[in-house]
Amino acid sequence: MSDHGFKRVALIGLGLIGGSIAWAARRHQDRPEFIGFARSEATRETTRKLGFCDEVADTAVDAVKDADLVILCVPVGAMAAVAAEIGPHLKQGCVVSDVGSVKGAVVEALSGLPDDVHVVPAHPMAGTEHSGPESGFAELYDNRYTLVTPIEGGDPEAVARLCAFWRSLGAIVEEMELVRHDLVCAVVSHAPHLIAYTMIGVADDLSRVTESEVIKYSAAGFRDFTRIAASDPTMWRDVFLSNKTATLEILGRFTEELFALQRAVRTGDGDYLFDYFTRTRAIRQGIIDAGQDTAAPNFGRDPAPKAED
Ligand code: NAP
Repeated sequence: MSDHGFKRVALIGLGLIGGSIAWAARRHQDRPEFIGFARSEATRETTRKLGFCDEVADTAVDAVKDADLVILCVPVGAMAAVAAEIGPHLKQGCVVSDVGSVKGAVVEALSGLPDDVHVVPAHPMAGTEHSGPESGFAELYDNRYTLVTPIEGGDPEAVARLCAFWRSLGAIVEEMELVRHDLVCAVVSHAPHLIAYTMIGVADDLSRVTESEVIKYSAAGFRDFTRIAASDPTMWRDVFLSNKTATLEILGRFTEELFALQRAVRTGDGDYLFDYFTRTRAIRQGIIDAGQDTAAPNFGRDPAPKAED
């Protein structure tokens, strides 16, 4: 067994994130057994067919009762109900973790779990716009950060084991205080998603005026927005509702910057725009230098379809 020592892992939620955990682990011979549960029979049946779990249980309680690691891979808004259901049936001493994109709200949702289990929240900073049991894949976490946000008074050994588990899936693991996590994620993920949703909403309104031109001539910038704005509505509704304070703080700053740029455009302040864009270009280079994206044209994706395609 690997250095995390987990022998039986229960995944509650078998979508992109839960499925990818099992697929990633299956690359190693020395891996824990995975038992999965999702709320719909359709997802459970698809998971059985795809075979990324060793067993698929018909109830969450059956899935967790013998597990030494339980990972909640459900939308943030569903965490409290799942925790209440499984709480009385968890194995004494097991580690309970999650993958939620917001940490403060999840810690609150898990606060009623019994004292004899170890809660260790975590967030893999990796994803795609796809969801459901067919969307998971083994490489999702390779060389991507997973942030582990230990709770106050939590067990350091449980934290160390969960970190080792994520490293075994290919992730780079770092610990972060949970309030800081929610602010950082509001900057790097949550606010950008809200902005993408807005931009596509604006284009949608416009397309009613310009017929299909917005789609037909969509250039790379717009297409990248549409990819982000295709993300799962349930997941993102829950993210914004549960990371309200940090999201509103970042959106407030965003609005101030937008007004400053708007003013520069109106007054013809080219120096302001040039300096601003020079600064932001350097940030992109920093991300490439850190190995978190590629400098390849079109972000290394397939060539852009021609407008008439
Ligand atoms: P997903 O593909 O939509 O999968 C969600 C899974 O949760 C489905 O199997 C769904 O079952 C199950 N589920 C929903 N409510 C449930 C409930 N009450 N009880 C039991 N199962 C339930 O979503 P995902 O992208 O994997 O996201 C899961 C979590 O990962 C979220 O908390 C999200 O914030 C976090 N996360 C997502 C990303 C990303 O980019 N997608 C990145 C990092 C973290 P059914 O199929 O039967 O409905």
